Amino acid sequence: MRAALSIDLESFWHHEWLRTRRPADADDRVQQATAPLLDLLRQRGVRATFFIVGDLIDRHPDLIRRLAAEGHEIGCHTFSHRPLWQLTPAEFDAELAQFAGALARCLPDVRPRGFRAPTFSLSPATAWALQALARHGYTYDSSLFPLRTPIYGVAGAPTTPFRPAANLIDADPAAALQEWPLTVWQLGRLRLPVCGGIYLRVLPLRLIRRGLAAAARRGPILLYLHPWELDADLPRLPLSRRERFVLYHNTGAAMQRRLRALLDAFPFQPMGEVLFSDQ
Ligand SMILES: [Zn+2]
Repeated sequence: MRAALSIDLESFWHHEWLRTRRPADADDRVQQATAPLLDLLRQRGVRATFFIVGDLIDRHPDLIRRLAAEGHEIGCHTFSHRPLWQLTPAEFDAELAQFAGALARCLPDVRPRGFRAPTFSLSPATAWALQALARHGYTYDSSLFPLRTPIYGVAGAPTTPFRPAANLIDADPAAALQEWPLTVWQLGRLRLPVCGGIYLRVLPLRLIRRGLAAAARRGPILLYLHPWELDADLPRLPLSRRERFVLYHNTGAAMQRRLRALLDAFPFQPMGEVLFSDQ
């Protein structure tokens, strides 16, 4: 069984619903949320892929150096955490260049191979981004959610790593990048997202474990989460009922327990080591 753990390293305030509402003096809580996660992964001997929002690198250089020193893979989660559908190709190019600049100041020898778009914003309308990633030296992307949700996702996309054509459904062996979609549990025609994040907080843990085990029989499985989901002291904001549910439900201790249970159940590795294990 092959399994990878990916962490989208961002602040609670990077969330699409909060990005423009952040008070200037708000603590980003990145250190408080991420250091205990790194401690846990070190205790368990687990290494992961961290897709980092570039604007955190200059603010938390010691944290970024620590995760590299502990053997985690560094990937890119844009510079500003704007989804692809809010960017022009030129703006996306600038995001990648800004990310590369910040990373070079912090870790001059690290060249990221993997990228994840904020809000899984890769669709046929934004698939131009894959060409830009290849030009900037990336070799894989993990932004494809193979299930249509109200906000993101591509119905009918493959569920395991492949080289995507522009429609993100067909394979193109000549494509420059590999795409690793988020893991779903295929139940007949139904796809259940068992890939982490909000789904790991909302669905019963036994269902997630069963779904991941079933998905692992078809190919490598991929879990994701955000450090802020493990934070028991998130700022409490005046939000709508739906926003409160999505942002707070089962964060903190409940999510910490779920992550520990999955670390016990699956042999997680960094994504690049699973994808390029023959190298
Ligand atoms: Zn994100």
